Amino acid sequence: AVRVRFAPSPTGFLHLGGLRTALYNYIFAKKHQGSFILRLEDTDQTRIVPGAAENIEDMLEWAGVPPDESPRRGGPAGPYIQSQRLALYAQAAEALLKSGAAYPCFCSPQRLELLKKEALRNRQTPRYDNRCRSLSQAQVAQKLAMDPKPAIRFRLEGEAPAFQDLVYGWNRHEVASVEGDPVILKSDGFPTYHLACVVDDHHMGISHVLRGSEWLVSTSKHLLLYQALGWQPPHFAHLPLLLNRDGSKLSKRQGDIFLEHFAATGFLPDALLDIITNCGSGFAENQMGRTLPELITQFDLSRVTCHSALLDLEKLPEFNRLHLRRLVGDETQRCQLVGQLQVLVEEAFGSQLQDRGVLDPTYVERIILLRQGHICRLQDLVSPAYSYLWTRPVVGRAQLGAISEKVDIIAKHVLGLLEGPGTNLTQDMLNGELKKLSDGLEGIKHSNVMKLLRVALSGQQQGPPVAEMMVSLGPKEVRERIQKMLC
Ligand code: GLU
Repeated sequence: AVRVRFAPSPTGFLHLGGLRTALYNYIFAKKHQGSFILRLEDTDQTRIVPGAAENIEDMLEWAGVPPDESPRRGGPAGPYIQSQRLALYAQAAEALLKSGAAYPCFCSPQRLELLKKEALRNRQTPRYDNRCRSLSQAQVAQKLAMDPKPAIRFRLEGEAPAFQDLVYGWNRHEVASVEGDPVILKSDGFPTYHLACVVDDHHMGISHVLRGSEWLVSTSKHLLLYQALGWQPPHFAHLPLLLNRDGSKLSKRQGDIFLEHFAATGFLPDALLDIITNCGSGFAENQMGRTLPELITQFDLSRVTCHSALLDLEKLPEFNRLHLRRLVGDETQRCQLVGQLQVLVEEAFGSQLQDRGVLDPTYVERIILLRQGHICRLQDLVSPAYSYLWTRPVVGRAQLGAISEKVDIIAKHVLGLLEGPGTNLTQDMLNGELKKLSDGLEGIKHSNVMKLLRVALSGQQQGPPVAEMMVSLGPKEVRERIQKMLC
């Protein structure tokens, strides 16, 4: 069975790069009727960010890609937090010690620091000189008496096995001759990433490891560990990095790549999933507007290329507009949008809302239906440009008089347009009639007629076209506002 995992460290909140890795895992799992697991890699306790673990799981759920097994949900392979699995790492380290594949290291932090400094002085990459590898059994016994909890290092020896990465093809990284023996278990009993990752992927029955390409070079080391432990390794597929459009690191954007930010500013999860799968990899073609079920059926791992994916966040509003329209077209979803917009209106205009039923679901729904093609986010409907929809403007007679002397004539004419049973206002009809009105009036330009009406309807000099406002507000409300022009 396919079992994949997303294994972030809770060192920060979930951002788009992490979401993309999680999403590919999720899609792969669902495509193969497998399980998607969330595992938190918190072995570096000094780097933990408070709230990050909760945020990661919350945001995966918000994005619509919830794990099947996770710290919160539990599952047969738990616990899903590495700091709660220390016994398993100790066990593996013990087995490696026994077989001679690992050895205790008694080097002091000072000595390691010196080694590092010296290497840097010689412009070399710091690496451990494997000194404790050659300690005799007697020496080890003697040192253990002084230092009963040494770090454990893995003996990097022999040729690293080649492996076929499902994205990058055949790979082999010569680690033994390049790197010093890595610590796999620290003296405080915590494992380092490499051991923890291998032990967990094994015990959790992971079939495919889909992770960021920055881990490609670690894979040979992992394979040596699998070999030494006598375990069958999973398949590997490394995913190319997600970068900004200009090729810079996504994390350099700061602030605005976190999912929380997108959720709080009214972006739809579907728009995010769509944009991060539309920058080059995994699908026969780029195509805006795909939904999660479509992503699952259309995804093809063999189409993931090694090129970095370039993300153009400036296009996100367009993606959002598309998905918003799709949701508006679905009655159940539209109902939810109505509820959300009611909340937004209350938040934005609360105290200014007069008793005219602007929160009435029929009105709110009508506004959504009318404006859907013109907005990117539901939030846009409570922006200043649209405040006229929810609150009545306070406009003085003098303000109108300054625009034209013909306030009364114009107002009466517009009131006439609104008369008659079941007046069905359309923008075309209104535009035609308002033009006729201006043409029939001596000494006033059409643009001034429109300006006058815009101010009367919205209190704003600039804003949406007058006919559009009239259609949105509906005849009854337009009549109320125009009548005020007369007093
Ligand atoms: N904890 C690692 C990270 O934060 C996971 C690497 C892996 O998936 O093996 O990226």
